[in-house]
This record gives sequence, structure tokens and C-alpha cells, in this order.
Amino acid sequence: MIDPQTLAHTLADLGQPAYRTGQVYRALARGLVTDFAQISELPASLRRDLAGRLVVQSLVPRDELVSPRGAVRKALLEAGDGCAVEAVLMTYRRRATVCVSTQVGCAVGCPFCASGALGLARDLRAEEMVDQVLHFARLLTSLGRRVTNVVFMGMGEPFHVYDETLRACRLLNDPEGFALAARGISVSTAGVVPGIRRFATEPLQLNLAVSLHAATDELRDRLVPLNRRYPLDELFSACEDYVEARGRKLFFEYVVLAAVNDGDDQVAALARRLRRPLYHLNLIACNETGGEFARPGARELAALADRLRRAGVACTVRRSPGGEIAAACGQLALRRRGVGQAGGCGCGRSGGREAGGPEPAGAVSTASPT
Ligand code: SAH
Ligand code: SF4
Repeated sequence: MIDPQTLAHTLADLGQPAYRTGQVYRALARGLVTDFAQISELPASLRRDLAGRLVVQSLVPRDELVSPRGAVRKALLEAGDGCAVEAVLMTYRRRATVCVSTQVGCAVGCPFCASGALGLARDLRAEEMVDQVLHFARLLTSLGRRVTNVVFMGMGEPFHVYDETLRACRLLNDPEGFALAARGISVSTAGVVPGIRRFATEPLQLNLAVSLHAATDELRDRLVPLNRRYPLDELFSACEDYVEARGRKLFFEYVVLAAVNDGDDQVAALARRLRRPLYHLNLIACNETGGEFARPGARELAALADRLRRAGVACTVRRSPGGEIAAACGQLALRRRGVGQAGGCGCGRSGGREAGGPEPAGAVSTASPT
């Protein structure tokens, strides 16, 4: 993807008429071309000139894993500097959701999350976020389908790279370009309060999710280290203001860690915080990432949802597909098939704990669709 402003600037520099910008931009965002050479409406000399100045694909697919029943795909995509990220496509009936990474690794360091274990190598640019979506959009087009939803829930903390995340949302939503409805786009934050406040003022009708995971500061300080900077009172003050300003539902994500955050104390604290019309809690069973935390059973999870509902909290148990290929929530950690990449994206900038290891048995692999 190339931002239309950059395109306009480059084309003007090449002495081209203004209408060329729309022509090239539509070929990228709608035609999903991967190379200027594929834009047949352009003169050959212009295609060559553009290729000499701009790169169409900021990320190149290096590996792809497909779940046994084909509903989930995880792609490893590499940037020009050797940094790589993972992105996931989940298809379900008419929905096709792409889960996008915003950073290479993550600086927050939640102890149950594989992305956090990598540390942070670098932020992604908006074009790199959009290219994760376009990668899967090409595959879907060949199947007569299109991307219906985008969730910024892959590697990284979107509000640590706020400007680029919002620029990516605008590019995806642009009616002249990819034209994805804003209500199909969701951004998830671990609780960066200034980001939530700013998001409340955005003109686009995007969805927001806040990763809560604990409703007491003592436990949340441990599970989401960002809580030490933005404790619960501050976080909920921003959440209140958000729903007041937007009049939109606010989703809270809660990774259930067996015997850690599913006790009566948390249920009571959650009820105190969340008994409110536009708040909705999503419970997600912890996907194992090789750490100290255990996944609760389906029965325990349903029982927790019942206790919460009886306490007045609107809540749902959410599926988190893709565990067979380490593509479920919290499992994105740059693993290449059969090769453990310690802390690794290959660019040498990652500074986290050791992560990696071979893909779990049962993963079905295919060649990249592009
Ligand atoms: N950094 C942002 C967005 C990316 S994480 C955030 O934390 O919200 C996306 C979601 O995956 C978050 O709700 C996160 O808590 C959840 N997650 C992380 N590790 C997980 C795990 N091991 N099992 C299930 N969900 C996990
Ligand atoms: Fe970062 Fe989100 Fe993972 Fe926490 S859960 S380490 S904020 S990606």
C-alpha cells in the first residue's frame, strides 16, 4: 500500500496529470496489484519510473500456516529491513476477519502473552499494517470473498503507535480505496489512557476494546504491567468518558487464567466496575504460550460467565480459534515452521526474553497463496 498523498507527490514530480493518482491508488487498494507492472492502463515508462521510486508491498510473505480445517491462516510477513510480523485470517460463515500487528513485538510485557515476551523491536508504519490486510484480501478475492472485519489485536500495543494505527484505519476505510466500513474495524488496547481519550474524539465510528484481565490494581499490576502507569481508577475514568462521548458499546477483554483471575474477589470487583449499560465483557480462555499460566476448562469458563451475569455484568465467552497453528490470541511470536527464532525478527533490534520453538504438532502448512 502507498498512501495517496505520497502517490500524488511522486506522480506530480514525474510530471504526470492529477488523474493518475486515483488511477494508481485504485489499482493498489482495489485491484490489489503487487507490482506497478500489473497496472496495464499506465504507459510502460511510467510503470518503470514508479517502480524506481516506490515500493508497492512493504511486507513480503515468507511463510504461511493453515489450520487443519482451513478456517484460520497465519502469515509471516517480512519488511525490507528484515523485521517480520505475523498476521492472521479467520473465516467464519460470511465473516472474514484479519488480525493485524501494529509493532514488531511489544513493550508492555504481559506475562501470559508470547508477543510481550519478544520485547519491542520497532513500530510498524500504517502501510505495513494495511499490507497485512491486503495480503489476505488477495487470497479472499480469488475465492470470491472479501475482508469484512479488521481487528488490531495482533502483536503490539496499538496506542503506543497511535498515529500510524489511526492512519491505517483511515486508509482501510477510505471510500476511494479499500472501503472497509469503520464499524468493521476494532482497536484493542492494554489501557493506554491518553490513547483512549484521543480515540474518543476520532470522527470515524471505530470500535474499541480494552484488555482488562483483572479488576483490582494489585492483580492487574502483575498481569498488565501498564497498570502501574495507568491504574484502574484512571482507566475507568477514561472509559466512562469514552462511552459518554461516543454512545457506543465498549468491549473489555478478559483472558481467563485458571486459579489466577477467576476468583470471587475478581467477580465482585468486575461487577463493581462493569455494571453499566454500554460495557460488555468478553471472556477468553488463556491460550497456552509456554508460561506459568493454565487454560481453564470449558465448564469452568461457562460457570464464570454465569457468576458474572448473576452479578449484573453483560458478558460473552469468546472463541479464540487458531490454537493448532499458534495463531490464537496471544500466541503470535514470529515462529517459522520448524525453526525457533529466539526473540526474533532477524533485524537484530528485538530485546525480549527468549521465545520461539517449533510449531506444535498437527499444524498443516501450505505454500503462500500469493
Ligand atoms: N496489545 C493490545 C492488542 C494486542 S493483544 C492488547 O493487549 O489489547 C490482543 C488480545 O489478545 C488482548 O486482549 C490480549 O490480552 C489477548 N491475549 C494475549 N495473550 C493471550 C493469551 N495467552 N491467551 C488469550 N488471549 C491473549
Ligand atoms: Fe502487548 Fe497486548 Fe501482548 Fe500485553 S497482551 S504484551 S499489551 S500484545
